Amino acid sequence: MKKEKLYGKTLNELIEVVRRIGLPGFAAKQIADWLYKKEIKAIEEMTNLSKKTRELLSVDYEIGLSAPVNSSESSDGTKKYLYKVLKDKYIETAYIPDNERATICVSSQSGCKMGCIFCMTGKQGFQGNLSTNEILNQFRSLPEFTNLTNMVYMGMGEPLDNITEVLKSLDIITNEWGYGWSPARITVSTVGLITGIKEFLENSRCHLAVSLHSPFDEERRKLMPIQRTNTVEEVLDIIRNFDFNSQRRVSFEYILFKGMNDTPRHIKELAGILKGIKCRINIIRFHPIPGSQFQSPNLGATINFKEALNAKGILTTIRASRGVDIKAACGLLSTLEQNKST
Ligand code: SF4
Repeated sequence: MKKEKLYGKTLNELIEVVRRIGLPGFAAKQIADWLYKKEIKAIEEMTNLSKKTRELLSVDYEIGLSAPVNSSESSDGTKKYLYKVLKDKYIETAYIPDNERATICVSSQSGCKMGCIFCMTGKQGFQGNLSTNEILNQFRSLPEFTNLTNMVYMGMGEPLDNITEVLKSLDIITNEWGYGWSPARITVSTVGLITGIKEFLENSRCHLAVSLHSPFDEERRKLMPIQRTNTVEEVLDIIRNFDFNSQRRVSFEYILFKGMNDTPRHIKELAGILKGIKCRINIIRFHPIPGSQFQSPNLGATINFKEALNAKGILTTIRASRGVDIKAACGLLSTLEQNKST
């Protein structure tokens, strides 16, 4: 019989586990300590539980960690790992070291339903939601786990389309009984799912990033089908009316496509729609994917775009392109791996 995984359970879920096998409630906290504060890989290592308790626990449960199945390293130090999930699917996780910072970029779904036309993961279609175990295993089983300083939910999938598991993973990372990370070290990115944003803002204190890519309705609809049902105007309304504290940041991701969304008209409109919102625009250079006509403007044009926005009072930065030589565009590596096994 398949055993249930303990890793990825919240404290409340662990309380249910210990009750089920007749242990006192405080044993849940002891198990959480072993899972999230100590680096154990087997139930036998939980030495402050009696031998009998460990045996009892091992009947139906296991820790449930699994190492990445493949990896590649860029000349700039970025690494991409492939993890096997949902029996026969692959997801990507990026490790991005940058001076004092070391960021992990995790996936939240296998494939994605959102269908953004510039995205390789979108082209895979949707294969399934990751469990909390599968989300957090990317973090804990990363060979560089102990170096990590920051975490972004910007890998494969739309995190807010898997909000229950994503919120549980955030709970485990940010609570004292879990990893005890500050929420200020974590950013969750979304295409702009209205109900998901509301739930995320109310139930977490982590940063929010919204993929914007165009301030114009028609153009954004072409790039991101989500605009047909969840408009960016509605997203901005929610953000305007939410009481962000000084610790919490909202940013807008903007992939620049040459000759399309990089004109003075776009700069003017962006400044208009974001007026009054304390935020930052993060410009991302487009990483080409097979079959796409899109191109990235050159660095000079990208810097000009950034400076024009800054001059309009919108704090704008350019995200450094990392891992270009190891297929940086999200979804490329896993697509290759999936094709190999079919
Ligand atoms: S960009 Fe993000 S939300 Fe859009 S299809 Fe790709 S993974 Fe999904």
